[in-house]
Amino acid sequence: MLNFTSATEWRSYTEQARCAGRRLGLIPTMGALHAGHLQLVQAAAAECDEVLVSIFVNPTQFNNPEDLRLYPRVPEQDAALLAPAGCTALFLPSVADMYPQPTVLRFDFGALESVMEGAHRPGHFNGVATVVSKLFHQARPHAVYFGQKDFQQVAIVRQLIADLSFDLELVVCPTVRETDGLAMSSRNRRLGPEARALAPFLYQTLQAAAQQVRQGVAPALVQQQALGTLAAEKAFTPEYFEVADAQTLQPLAAYAPGRAVVLCVAAFLDGVRLIDNVVVEA
Ligand code: AMP
Repeated sequence: MLNFTSATEWRSYTEQARCAGRRLGLIPTMGALHAGHLQLVQAAAAECDEVLVSIFVNPTQFNNPEDLRLYPRVPEQDAALLAPAGCTALFLPSVADMYPQPTVLRFDFGALESVMEGAHRPGHFNGVATVVSKLFHQARPHAVYFGQKDFQQVAIVRQLIADLSFDLELVVCPTVRETDGLAMSSRNRRLGPEARALAPFLYQTLQAAAQQVRQGVAPALVQQQALGTLAAEKAFTPEYFEVADAQTLQPLAAYAPGRAVVLCVAAFLDGVRLIDNVVVEA
């Protein structure tokens, strides 16, 4: 596995690989890798000649400076996991390399970002779209791999690819969970033992709500009950629980035949902000 820190060298390596007719797959990450990330690497390795992984804790997508400061950074451990999973080249740029000057361009995804993560983390998707655009331009991959764990991010990236005519395929991989159901996340490392034991409650709440959706319980009632359940568990501070259309991400007033529903939740546990989602097919 090759290692790059310079954006210029990364660009030149990926350009040469592309010119040599190799298929390039890119997996953007923020590091502190786990099986959820490695699944994306393995999916790319099955379909691509070059499996390009970037690790960059992108400051512009953090609305909370404390969250940025505490974000886990373990590049040596990450590198050791990547090669066996099939990564051929790792890009670990510095902030100065990715942002040689402050960006002026601002992304506006309209209704798609007026809800959930976009509503609760002002500027978050502008930062995501900025860094993802830079990474796409630098490596010019044929395919990019993202996880369903960040459901709204996938919708934003899909819109970005369409609106800016990026010539690449978006591959979405399912959420990888711990055996107790907790969605794998780099932030889980920050949970103390007690909080970690309680954490699967988030997914259990989602599953109970999904069952209600299948039974036709009205979206507002599903939302109200899920928020009540979470609030009753003292360790959790729910931020939102949404019953939304899986395509538009807009909150549902009623179910529509043939339209998939997504249940999305964000909650604080032990000072750590966790998100998760479940799709209920219509
Ligand atoms: P991050 O390092 O958190 O920015 O995530 C990098 C990529 O890995 C994103 O596309 C995430 O959606 C994806 N990812 C993170 N956690 C999981 C998971 N548990 N299952 C599947 N994909 C994930």
